[in-house]
Amino acid sequence: MIADMVLRGGRVFTAESTVGNPTAIAVAGDRIAHVGDDSEAIELIGPGTTVVELAGRLVTPGFIDAHVHPATSGLDLLRLRFDGCADSDDALTVLADYANGHPELEWIIGAGWAQPWFDRGCPSKEMLDSVIPDRPALIENADGHGGWVNSRALENAGITARTPDPPDGRIERNADGSPQGTLHEGAIDLVSSIGPQDTVDDFEAGLLQGQDHLLSFGITGWQDAIVRPVVHEAYLRLARSGRLLGRVVGAMWWERDRELDQIEELVERRRATGPNFSPTSVKLMLDGVVENFSAAMLTNYFSSDGSETTNSGTDFIDPDLLKRIVTLLDANGFQCHFHAIGDRAVRSALDAIDSARTENGPSDHRHHISHIQVVHPEDIGRFAKLDAIANAQPLWAQREVTQTELTMPFLGERRSSRQYPFGSLLAAGARLGMGSDWGVSTCNVMEEIAVAVTRKGARSDDEFYPSERLTPRQALTAFTAGSAFINHAESDSGTLAAGMIADLVVLDGDPLASGDFRSTHVDKTMVNGEFVYEVD
Ligand SMILES: [Zn+2]
Repeated sequence: MIADMVLRGGRVFTAESTVGNPTAIAVAGDRIAHVGDDSEAIELIGPGTTVVELAGRLVTPGFIDAHVHPATSGLDLLRLRFDGCADSDDALTVLADYANGHPELEWIIGAGWAQPWFDRGCPSKEMLDSVIPDRPALIENADGHGGWVNSRALENAGITARTPDPPDGRIERNADGSPQGTLHEGAIDLVSSIGPQDTVDDFEAGLLQGQDHLLSFGITGWQDAIVRPVVHEAYLRLARSGRLLGRVVGAMWWERDRELDQIEELVERRRATGPNFSPTSVKLMLDGVVENFSAAMLTNYFSSDGSETTNSGTDFIDPDLLKRIVTLLDANGFQCHFHAIGDRAVRSALDAIDSARTENGPSDHRHHISHIQVVHPEDIGRFAKLDAIANAQPLWAQREVTQTELTMPFLGERRSSRQYPFGSLLAAGARLGMGSDWGVSTCNVMEEIAVAVTRKGARSDDEFYPSERLTPRQALTAFTAGSAFINHAESDSGTLAAGMIADLVVLDGDPLASGDFRSTHVDKTMVNGEFVYEVD
């Protein structure tokens, strides 16, 4: 057999445990024809074969991002960009430029500011008024758990000192009770619901932009962690017109303010598929984040002086109701994709999976729990026992300002040390997948793996609970084969072997040899045997 393309003279990481040290890989059509050493590869080279000299570079399976938001984040890229901002002044400059450049917009909508730029992580309405006085503005922060609004937006939404907090959110207030300008969690909806709504056209453009962005980081498959009907429609447009290059599982959004009968609608929506797009998962948001004290904890938060508060965060879905929801979703053949940050939320997710297992018996739906920031030690072993997959966002396991200023003081040392216990989960037999949560964080897989294996950030030498480090091979496996398993895609992708679809990445070096993932980049991304991204 003659191959269409042979890549040789490097190292091939297959994400399979059995193979030795292959140096070459051959592609025929859209499939991998052979993985082996250079002398074997020579046999497959004919007159029409393209030969890529790897010169020591590492080839890996295409990365699979098990938790990402490309439609919304791609759309954000097309709007405001806070790239390179380091403080509130930078952010205000970006906002002023954007508003001045878009006099036609009735609202200024955007996302991407970071909490450390502002006092207590809460920007004020007066700051936003200073650059956008004339129109309502709603700018969400990078993690989507906080919204920054100006006075016009608050007025239009009728939010005053007398407006009560919604059940799943909080209006940040001044001493006199008046709204301060930051809205937390569900309180963002008070303003977003009266603003302009993004259309299918918007999301179609956003998805194309998002897909390009993901491919440039070597990501050839993903699970979209929030697929609302309008995003679902955008995926169908791309899929059915052959423009969806990534292999995608969609997690349809569970509406917390609606009843169990929404399952019928989800069953109906699951039938709306297209090439490369399967909406077979349901996203259940169980809590918020630690930084605004909405992550659901088993014990109370501390205040900044170290005393115990009476707040242990918020269950976005009542734990008993959650058991019924998950049991029903499981019985209807859905995968459950949980957002769980606090140790109480993680436990609720595990308890709900336990209920489904007891009621329905084992299933192959591969329920997975994203974020797993604080995990109680008694729950670590339950992942393997319940066949619950840990879906890690490893970038966050570093000692930076969000941890040292906004998280660790309020958790205390013991709970802080239970954060992102990836090593312990693997040691206890849990399956591990990985994702970026882009646009909350970068989708640069090399940067994420760098943190997973060092537990260090780019700017600091301080390690973050280093006993939870992964080996480079464990981390690469999680971001390929591990996430492929979450997406039920492991028979085609996530590993490199003869017969698999030719989705792969050529890096610009070999971080398995150098140990340096952080300064490694993607040179080429291949989908279906063709390069869809190449550094020129
Ligand atoms: Zn997310």
